[in-house]
Amino acid sequence: MSSAITIQGARGTIPECGKSFLKYGGNTTCYSMITEKSVIIIDAGTGISRVAAEIAKLPKKLPITLLFTHFHMDHVVGFPCFDPLYDKNASITIMADPRRRDNWEHTLQAFMDKPYWPVGLGDTDIKMNLKDIPVSRDAMDVLGTRISWFKVPHPQQCLAYRIEKNNTTTVIATDVEYSYDNIDPAFINFCQGADFLVFDAQFTPEEYKKHKGWGHSTWHTGTRIAACAGIGRLILTHHSPKRTDSALNKILREAKNEFSRTYIAHEGMKLQK
Ligand SMILES: [Zn+2]
Ligand SMILES: [Zn+2]
Repeated sequence: MSSAITIQGARGTIPECGKSFLKYGGNTTCYSMITEKSVIIIDAGTGISRVAAEIAKLPKKLPITLLFTHFHMDHVVGFPCFDPLYDKNASITIMADPRRRDNWEHTLQAFMDKPYWPVGLGDTDIKMNLKDIPVSRDAMDVLGTRISWFKVPHPQQCLAYRIEKNNTTTVIATDVEYSYDNIDPAFINFCQGADFLVFDAQFTPEEYKKHKGWGHSTWHTGTRIAACAGIGRLILTHHSPKRTDSALNKILREAKNEFSRTYIAHEGMKLQK
């Protein structure tokens, strides 16, 4: 088993479909990693349906840990459709940051309930465990995978995760706003030396001028962080629903001029050295 993190949804805001979005995909944010002992999922955008299909093919049931970065719609919209929620042999642990101003368990329960969805979160009879991330510590171990976190600037709070497994380190920083000239040195420290940095590039530098404070960054800022933090490969993600494949190809060319090891996140991309 490779234990590589797979990008299951790279789109921000809302899903997209159509022939202009086939190369990079239209599903919203979701990442997964299947190890010999567990399934780890980050966020439940529409890409989580792809993870459910992979779980269905596993020869044995593995415990599932679903970590949320935050609860904006594009990161939870796939959650009620996640098949293991309806499998009474599944074991699911859901985790998020207890320092949020909302009570995240209530937020998730309100989202998956009537009238938005016919089945409430508590109505399914599977072994489900809602647990706070142990933020008094620096990191936690999820069945052999080391995971640490960093609170990033984004409306209603958001976490970036640093995931370490089999000598591969990946930082997932979807939904974060830093401007090119104002990057928190503590965030650079958090990313330091990672093999992969998956970074929010929702806006182009031109668009960003009009969208300061909306909670997202640019590819340009991503290249600066990648260079400062000694990143192996920079993966740009959280693509605007307006961004067609050809627009993303253009961004890739521009970003590579600044940081040559830049890639564009696409559905099915495996983060493997
Ligand atoms: Zn988002
Ligand atoms: Zn968000």
